[in-house]
Amino acid sequence: MSAVQPTLAIPLVDLATQSARIKEEVLARVGRVIDKANYILGDEVAEFEDEFARYCGSSHCVGVANGTEAIHLALRALEIGPGDEVITAANSFAATALAIAYCGATPVLVDVCEDDFNIDPTMIEQAITPRTRAVIPVHLYGQPARMAEIMEIAKRHGLKVIEDSAQSHGGELNGTRCGAFGDIACFSFYPGKNLGAFGDAGACVTADAKLAEKLRLLRNYGQIVKNRHDLLGFNCRLDTVQACVLLTKMQYIEEWTEQRRQVAQWYREELDGSQLRLPIEKPLARHVYHLFVVRHPERDRLMKFLAERQICCGIHYPNPLPTAQPFASARTHPTGVPVCTQLSNEILSLPMYPEMRREQVAAIAAAIGEFAIHESADYA
Ligand SMILES: *Cc1c(COP(=O)(O)O)cnc(C)c1O
Repeated sequence: MSAVQPTLAIPLVDLATQSARIKEEVLARVGRVIDKANYILGDEVAEFEDEFARYCGSSHCVGVANGTEAIHLALRALEIGPGDEVITAANSFAATALAIAYCGATPVLVDVCEDDFNIDPTMIEQAITPRTRAVIPVHLYGQPARMAEIMEIAKRHGLKVIEDSAQSHGGELNGTRCGAFGDIACFSFYPGKNLGAFGDAGACVTADAKLAEKLRLLRNYGQIVKNRHDLLGFNCRLDTVQACVLLTKMQYIEEWTEQRRQVAQWYREELDGSQLRLPIEKPLARHVYHLFVVRHPERDRLMKFLAERQICCGIHYPNPLPTAQPFASARTHPTGVPVCTQLSNEILSLPMYPEMRREQVAAIAAAIGEFAIHESADYA
């Protein structure tokens, strides 16, 4: 038996290294906000919104408090409420379905394609009823969903499309960026996302000027002018200080995205011939590798083995959404969500962040190789 190697710990994500690089620039911008005392909806918010809309290849961006509220306000802007059904993937982060429930609408949680982990257009079509109003494809792990098929189905059935792009800043399919496909696209800038603030932040992106205007009201108490409230609005604006962080990071987002793609390529080279099933990159897709998710039938044992070698992995997500208490009354396919269920038992998110080095990827691959030897010895 070989002893556990004293490798240097490899975290799932490393926010501190990136933050240190931009700290001085962020402090300078925040310093100017403090001096101007322009804390709520300051100039930096609009400046960031312009840049981010352009980055997505769209026309309008409305900064909001977080990604969950971005989805919630998008549904409100499209006037989706009680009695309506909204179809989404059964393997997203819970926030996607929670936002549907906030509006009093019913989440309809459908199965995904095994190859790219994203919502299965056939399942969308089967789930449509006279009450269906919208579909929320999630560009999971950084790879766009099958948007051509989804937009075609939505058009044919008169459904709205809200992209959950919380994991896919800069992702592309057939030359179109995530954020430019649907009626509204929702982004999260939670610190660990590909574009992350130093706290909570999010945004809605749309090409429709009227929807953008409505979203601006919805995030700001429904106020058209001070103390005139024409609709049930909320307080969920993007914070000016967070906009400073995001504006600073916009200068680096493409560089960091390319580094993520390089790390993914190293994983492919180092793990070639291993027992893992590696993620695919669809033809014509630009995968931005928010997460690098592999599959192994003995996932729990592999995860423990790696943790003992200080290699930290994650599971995104361990339980299909229909099993969660808040979605007990959500609708699913009569045969359940078999692909999601199987995936939830096999998926493992390996460490992934732009600053990873090839030696770290090689060390992870070596540990995975050791695991294979260890397992075959156990079962010989
Ligand atoms: C992170 C995330 C959200 C929620 O974003 P918050 O900013 O944390 O509210 C929604 N959907 C997906 C797919 C996410 O990954």
